Parts: sequence; structure tokens; C-alpha cells
Amino acid sequence: MSRKIHIFDTTLRDGEQVPGAKLNKKQKLEIAQQLAKLNVDIIEAGFPCSSPGDFDAVKAVAQQVKGPVIAALARAVKEDIDIAAEAVREAERPRVHVFLGSSDIHIQKKLRRDRESALDMAVEAVKYSRNLCDEVEFSTEDGSRTDFEYLCRIIEATIQAGARIINVPDTVGYALPEEFGDLIHRLREKVPSLDRSVLSVHCHNDLGLAVSNSIAAIRNGADQVECTVNGIGERAGNASLEEIVMVLKTRFENYHATTGINVGEIYRTSRMVSRLMNIPVQPNKAIVGSNAFSHSSGIHQDGILKDRTTYEIMKPEDLGIKQESIVLTARSGRAALRHCLGEIGFSLDPEVFERVYNRFIDVADRKKDIAAEDLKSIVEIEVSKVPETYRMHNLQIMSGTKMVPIASVTLERDGQLHTDSATGDGPVDAAFNVIERITGVSGKLRDYDLKAVTMGRDALGEAMVRVQIGNTLYSGIGSSPDVIEASARAYLNAYNRYFANGGVENVQISDSPVSTDRKL
Ligand SMILES: [Zn+2]
Repeated sequence: MSRKIHIFDTTLRDGEQVPGAKLNKKQKLEIAQQLAKLNVDIIEAGFPCSSPGDFDAVKAVAQQVKGPVIAALARAVKEDIDIAAEAVREAERPRVHVFLGSSDIHIQKKLRRDRESALDMAVEAVKYSRNLCDEVEFSTEDGSRTDFEYLCRIIEATIQAGARIINVPDTVGYALPEEFGDLIHRLREKVPSLDRSVLSVHCHNDLGLAVSNSIAAIRNGADQVECTVNGIGERAGNASLEEIVMVLKTRFENYHATTGINVGEIYRTSRMVSRLMNIPVQPNKAIVGSNAFSHSSGIHQDGILKDRTTYEIMKPEDLGIKQESIVLTARSGRAALRHCLGEIGFSLDPEVFERVYNRFIDVADRKKDIAAEDLKSIVEIEVSKVPETYRMHNLQIMSGTKMVPIASVTLERDGQLHTDSATGDGPVDAAFNVIERITGVSGKLRDYDLKAVTMGRDALGEAMVRVQIGNTLYSGIGSSPDVIEASARAYLNAYNRYFANGGVENVQISDSPVSTDRKL
């Protein structure tokens, strides 16, 4: 006998709240389609009242993504609920997810109410939501720090009001596995009507315990876990989807719980989320990190060669991680490229394929062999590109141990070439300075990450940046056999995101009045 655990993915809502990770509609749809392939049970597509852009994106996901339930978040007020219900109205299976603080800290300091009036507000909100949407989830925000008797009352009352799913979040990541498991156990005992509902948990990783707390909750009767791909999310992040799924699968005998997740899509989903949101995955990240299945000590390597199970508890190929040996060169034509892209799981529309082909030839001219990892990097960057206001036409650098570095850059805009040069503290800084001079917009570099895509001295370098323009963070990514060029391409990509956003310096989600309440 085994129980089915519902996987509620909030990558597109809680995950998207990471500064600089904002997605446009097209990117949100692309990730949502991949989440459907991964076979999550619920996709929380966004917080529609936070901005008109998010409303549109959630609506598009609801219209186009088939399979999972599509949920939208709302505060416990009518305007939010109206907007959320409208955004998911056309989904196959819509859900409105309403939340309200239930701990005394939240009720007194944030809502400025007392327990009784907060309880009334929750009940009203659930009733109102049920008029607009059949499936309503209610979250007791800061549930793990809420007085137990009051938590039972609010859960009982909201179930009576029509909530089908009750979520108990550890909003601030404070809970310990044994106490959080115990809380779920006691709720099950104390609130009999939970037997008619789905009991959910939502854990944050401030103490590194989000996955442990979620697993403890499952052991004690939780039916649904809220989680994100790569564990991204507010502050230290949310519980990681892939870790929860693989704990339940690898240690099935301990929990007798399964998920519907198609684990063969885990790796591809992880890569897509990392790429489109520009959040690198740490190399030692469980399940999906680049070192998660590499064995470096001689003793381990020897064991693995004799029998993989000596040091491996999961098979990387089950997660969709393949060691491809494809190698292309500048002489490989379009047909060979198309074939190799198919092997690594990409089928591109003709316009994107042409862009990928041109970039492939450009890189292959300078780097002899193009491996599967190089191809993936090229494709993923081209696929995630925003419209290019400025295109890199030429880059030249002069630098040395005893000279001030000088960069000369030519950018193309509407068919016109613009050339300028500048010095800098280093060659990368010099290149960034020229981009600022040509575009006439100054930015502050907030984050810079450079890595090699493959092994070897001629590896393709991939740069990720976060640039602050005005009050907003824009992320950018670029790759090239030359690391300075990769960095300049990443910087220009961030600038193109800024221009694609209308070139307005103060459009920022956290300036909107609702944003401080997005910390579920
Ligand atoms: Zn959260």
C-alpha cells in the first residue's frame, strides 16, 4: 500500500520572487509547459494582482498548459481574489490560493487586527473565493509559529467555509523536522474535518531544513508539498522539488509514498529554470548539481568502474542526465547540427534554428570541437534571448600586466553601427564601460559568475551577470570561447532586457503596494 503525495510547484510564484529572476510571459509559459511534462500535480503560476504583466502570464498559462491544476495566489481581500480567479478561469482545473497571516506576530504587527477579526476575514475570503472558483486552497501564513488551538480553529472554520486544501507554511524557515512533523500529526488528530481535505505544507530553507521538514510532514500525514525546482525562492529558498521526489523514490520502503513526477524530466527542468531565471545551480547541489554524480577519489572511481552501485544510490540516466559523446566541428552542416540537437532533446522552430546555426558556426570557427554541453549552452542562450535592441558586432581588447586595459566595442542598433572605446580596472570592466557609453545608460554590476561549460583548455566560457539599472535588477547571460567576450555578451544581454522592458528605470515589482505581502 502506498500513498500518493501531490506535488505543488511554486517555481513560477515563490521562485520568481528572487530578485532579478522575473520572467516574461513567453518564458513563464515555456517553464510551465516543461512542468507539465515533469507531471507536477499543481502549477502555481503567479500572483496576478502583483502586476498586469503577471496577470497576463498567469492567464496564458491557464489557457495553454494542459494537465496540472493551475493555481493563482491572492491575499484575503476581494480585489485580489477577483483578479486571481479571472486569471485562472480558463484553466482545465483552476484553483484560487488565498492566504492570511495566522500567527500573533502577523495578525498584530502586519494585519493590525485581533484573532477573532482575522478569523472572520479568512472565512469571508474563502466563501467569496468559492463563489468564483470551485477549488480553493487556504494558507495559514506563518502557520508554524501560530498558537496551536487558534490554528485548529482557523483550519476548521475555513474548511467549513469551503476550502478543499489547507496549507500550513513554515513561512520563515524556523521549524525543526521533529516539531513540524509533530504539528502535522496533532493537526490530523485535533481537526477531524481534515480527513475530507488535502493537507499541504510549504517549507522555507532558512536553516537548511526545508526538505527535511517537508519529509517529516509527509511521514505525519501531509498529502501535498509545495516546492520549487532547484529549491529557488525567497531568501534561502523553498523546499527543493527534485530532492523531495528522490527521497521518496530512493527510500520508498521508509515512507510508502509516491509522486506522479516523471523523474526523467528532472534534469532538463532544472537546467531550463536555472537558465531562464539566470540562477546558477551550485555544483554540489543534491540531485541536479554538476558534481552530484562525479566521483573524484581514486578509490571511488575504481569502485564505480567495477560496479556503479558501490558508490551510487541513484542512476543519473534515470534523471535524464546523459553523458553524450557527440562532437561537431565547423564543417558539420545544418543536417548534422539538427540531428545532434534532436539527440539532446531539442526540436527548434526554423527561425530559432537559424540563429543557433549562425552562433554555432561563429563558435566552431574559433573552438575546434563542439560537444553536447557546448551545444546545450548555445541553444539555451538563444532560446531565452530577449529582443536585441543592441547586437554585438565587434569587440577588441588590449590588456597586459603593465598597461591600463582598453576595450573597443562596436554595437549594432537598427542597422547602424556604433563604435566607442574605454579603459577600465580590468579588461571586463573596460568592455562594460564601453557598453554603457554607447547605450548612454549606466548600470551597477551586482553579481558576476563565470564558468567553463566543458572540461579542457578550449572550453566554452559562460558568464552570468546581474546589473542594477535604476532600482531594478536585470540578469544577463552570454557564452563564448573568449571569457571577456562571454562577459560582454552577458552584460549586453542584461541591457537588452532593460530595453525590452521599455527602458524605464523605475519599473520594479517591489515598488507596488502589494509586494511586501508576497512572502508566503
Ligand atoms: Zn513561500
